[in-house]
Amino acid sequence: MVYLAVCSTMSPGGSVERQAATRARQAFLSGRTRPLEFRLQQLHALLKMITERETDICTALKQDLNRSQFDTALLELTGLENEVRLSIEKLSVWAAPRSVERSVLTLRDQVYVRPQPLGLVLIIGAWNYPWALTLGPLVGAIAAGNAAVVKPSELSECSSLLLRALLPRYLDKELYPVVCGGVSETQDLLRLRWDHIFYTGSSSVGQLVMEAAAAHLTPVTLELGGKSPCYVHHDCNLRVAARRITWGKFVNCGQTCIAPDYVLCDPSIQNQLIDCIRLTMQEFYGADPKSSPDYGRIISQRHFQRIMSLMEGYTPVIGGQSDAAQRYIAPTVLRDVPPQSRLMKEEIFGPVLPLVAVSDVDDAIRFINEREKPLALYIFCTDPTLTEKMLEQTSSGGVLVNDVLMHYSLSSLPFGGVGHSGMGQYHGRQSFEQLSHMRSYLVRSLTMESVNLSRYPPQDRRRARR
Ligand code: NAD
Repeated sequence: MVYLAVCSTMSPGGSVERQAATRARQAFLSGRTRPLEFRLQQLHALLKMITERETDICTALKQDLNRSQFDTALLELTGLENEVRLSIEKLSVWAAPRSVERSVLTLRDQVYVRPQPLGLVLIIGAWNYPWALTLGPLVGAIAAGNAAVVKPSELSECSSLLLRALLPRYLDKELYPVVCGGVSETQDLLRLRWDHIFYTGSSSVGQLVMEAAAAHLTPVTLELGGKSPCYVHHDCNLRVAARRITWGKFVNCGQTCIAPDYVLCDPSIQNQLIDCIRLTMQEFYGADPKSSPDYGRIISQRHFQRIMSLMEGYTPVIGGQSDAAQRYIAPTVLRDVPPQSRLMKEEIFGPVLPLVAVSDVDDAIRFINEREKPLALYIFCTDPTLTEKMLEQTSSGGVLVNDVLMHYSLSSLPFGGVGHSGMGQYHGRQSFEQLSHMRSYLVRSLTMESVNLSRYPPQDRRRARR
């Protein structure tokens, strides 16, 4: 493929990274991102790239993750296109000055908040949805009038190289460069001074990003992971719940940051739920998921070994088969997993679904609250009182009742974590605001000075005036 010919060749000492950042900053300082017309033109060009190159993008993802074209369009490209379209439609409203309330002392003044670009943004993406997780933040960066250096993950290599080849053909080359590379290139980038760092990836690397940002007091958005719980109450339609959970867990081979990590349920419904999941898997992937065009692969040997080691010592009730040569792990379900096991401590990020027994809603709430705050919480329940109790007594980045993943698709809902699952939010207007400085303006006239005299010294004169 054409883009493989432009494979990254990093020069020592991080000079490629430094040069890209320097050029992008100079381009930002030229002021050409300030007019909204320029930003709109870049957003239109980005949309054109995504639509024109959809087949190439799908091919790259097939190579990286064995992802089907249908899933790439559904899970990655449609949402991305909607984000760009929304930004194009709303940019003039988002970027306009907003009048705010005045006090008695400022009644005759102009008081408003006006968004301002931050400057140069570093976007570090993850490999599981390599287009949405790099271009999603880029939409916000462009709309807000920033320059941005985009660093895709080295693990989704075909997508990263394609992105590096395509972006300069559509967007301003200097303002939005793509820098490929792995850990050392990312570390080189992190040593530089940025006006904002937007990082998507694991919590452990998120800590390193925050440390590096602290050296320059750079603000960060951290889109991290964690174990997103899924509680299934005995009152719900298990057939429907199982279908939705099976889809959200095993799509992209379990490598989705908001995939339900584990299921909590009352022991009385475990067998029935397992039967429903088994039936759904058969419907989705047939008797042999390995030969299904709709079932993905693990991104790398390292991640394959990590997931396999998490399953050690368990006898799966569904699945469990694997093939290292193809980085294939069958959709797998484990039951009666001990709450203190390694499997229940680390984010699984693979096609393994543990079922953990809890006695009731209170037990589930206790279980969730004993752990780090997750990125998503899923509640399957038809009793509004119990659902409200769970919503009220837990915390998570987002929450979804009676389905999984779908909250991600709404640009009107801020997306992001809380606590260990991240900080900052994006999508839609939030992306624009996250990457803008909301500058406060108070504009006064030099007339009417008599109103101000009471605040000036000396005190004696003030008293005399009263
Ligand atoms: P990762 O943190 O290992 O890698 C992400 C990026 O960080 C890559 O570009 C990589 O080059 C860089 N990196 C890795 N090690 C580094 C180091 N020591 N120093 C500097 N940079 C380093 O993450 P991952 O394994 O690629 O992604 C999986 C994680 O990302 C999961 O935890 C998942 O939940 C999370 N995730 C979160 C979201 C979200 O939107 N919140 C989306 C996707 C993935």
